[in-house]
Amino acid sequence: MIIVLKPGTQESDIDDVCRRIEGLGLRAHVSRGEQRTVIGAIGDDRFKTRLQALEALDCVESLVPILQPFKLASREVHPTDTVIEVDGVRIGGLELTIMAGPCSVESEIQLRTVAEGVKAGGAHILRGGAFKPRTSPYAFQGLEEEGLKLLSEARKLTGLPIVTEVLEPDRVELVAEHADILQIGARNIQNFSLLKEVGQCRRPVLLKRGMATTIKEFLLSAEYVLAGGNRDVILCERGIRTFETATRNTFDISAIPVVKKLSHLPIIADPSHGAGRRDMVAPMARAAVAAGADGLIIEVHCDPDRALSDGAQSMFPAQFDRLMAELRIIAPAIGRSICLDPVARRGWGS
Ligand code: PEP
Ligand code: MN
Repeated sequence: MIIVLKPGTQESDIDDVCRRIEGLGLRAHVSRGEQRTVIGAIGDDRFKTRLQALEALDCVESLVPILQPFKLASREVHPTDTVIEVDGVRIGGLELTIMAGPCSVESEIQLRTVAEGVKAGGAHILRGGAFKPRTSPYAFQGLEEEGLKLLSEARKLTGLPIVTEVLEPDRVELVAEHADILQIGARNIQNFSLLKEVGQCRRPVLLKRGMATTIKEFLLSAEYVLAGGNRDVILCERGIRTFETATRNTFDISAIPVVKKLSHLPIIADPSHGAGRRDMVAPMARAAVAAGADGLIIEVHCDPDRALSDGAQSMFPAQFDRLMAELRIIAPAIGRSICLDPVARRGWGS
């Protein structure tokens, strides 16, 4: 239920309404807009009827049911865009955020050369998998803890914050020691115990859409993280599985404006997994940005033919540079921009 307060309601009255909501066993989520403040009362559906009593309060204008099944993720409860800050890098504002790096962390030299390459190209955040969810048990499973250490070293070297995947609830703490953003991969979108665990964690979460997940299910998975108390969820469209086989997945660009309409959470796009082919990554990246994505996550490798995972979809650093140059032209055409030297702007290393 959304409690709409009268214009000019005092802070003490807002606190009072929140206390009453919490006294009913629900959670209060205050959203201050330019015109008025609304409070979302979130929790067990069975307790909703108890809220009717709030209608009698002087400061309350009306009670409006939340129509969407996802509550904290919805624009009804939180009308303005959420902007998430990770070590000085903003995700969800007017500036686009570009995450780039190898699919898997393979070695110190591999990670260092890719990290330096994407930094030079203007990436804001370094990606790289240490725990890899592979379809085949015989495929490279990642360097695990050693990979996390290499990511920490790459952060020290470049100043780029790190996004990396966590596969299991009991590894969340370990991965969070090394990562600035925890990635939940497509295969774990409905691993509810993992979602609950990262909901308790203080690191932002990059939540990738599953290959057979509807947008409603996608936002309900985000709701699990938000309901656990972690408000920093970044959504990611990475393609869904359809009858089409020309590309690895069908990159659902329409999901971007649909999600933007339904949710205040930032959404970025992963054209690498969406297309699965190096030659298709740039056109899909350009389209995703034009469609309103808040950023991109792109796989880059210096020797993709020898990559231990996803080489076919990994760009060469020079291709990444070209894409960044194109994005700097597209961004202003749609009212966005790209910070040119994010590490220097944050005063890193000075
Ligand atoms: C990845 O980012 O390398 C990855 C495994 O992605 P997804 O979960 O989208 O398949
Ligand atoms: Mn990959």
